[in-house]
Amino acid sequence: MQPKRLMTSPETPLPQGAGLWRQGWYRHARTMASPNFNQRPAGARVDLVVIHSISLPPGEFGNGNVQRLFTNQLDWDAHPYFQSVRGLEVSAHFFISRTGALWQFVSCDDRAWHAGQSAYRGQNQCNDDSIGIELEGLEGSIFEAPQYETLASLCAAILQAYPVAHIAGHEHIAPGRKLDPGPGFDWLLLQDSLALPNRYFPRLA
Ligand SMILES: [Zn+2]
Repeated sequence: MQPKRLMTSPETPLPQGAGLWRQGWYRHARTMASPNFNQRPAGARVDLVVIHSISLPPGEFGNGNVQRLFTNQLDWDAHPYFQSVRGLEVSAHFFISRTGALWQFVSCDDRAWHAGQSAYRGQNQCNDDSIGIELEGLEGSIFEAPQYETLASLCAAILQAYPVAHIAGHEHIAPGRKLDPGPGFDWLLLQDSLALPNRYFPRLA
């Protein structure tokens, strides 16, 4: 007797990481859409994750100012430091607070404005083909354990969905101009969490 054939839909395999992502938006992030983005160039291959650090004003955490900056809602007159970023239209794809909470501002399918003038793995304009992740923090200072946990799970999800081959700091793609996340960031901890070989990471000093 022939085994009964199951009625199945045509076997179109889901892309890896489907379910976690919807049109470049990560399921486990709070969404706060930024107007500061544009399309990636045609054929862009998203092979780079850029790690940053930010806090506004520097060293003050948990006040929502970074989220306001990335969505053009920061009151430039609310603090003297904000004059130095007045009118800036910037964004990152993600922001991770000191407690490990995760926000997303721009679809990873689109081009966020986080890197500025930059070059890495032989290519300029890293915004074109990278995903930017901002950690709430201060250049050179340490980061919190919940931030590494959120960062590692986010990077793992990104690696499932995008052809990422490099993870680097802003300081590595804009050397001399940028210093974040700085020496307080534990690259080896991130590497161990992701179980990735050295070739994914900048050569550590
Ligand atoms: Zn940066």
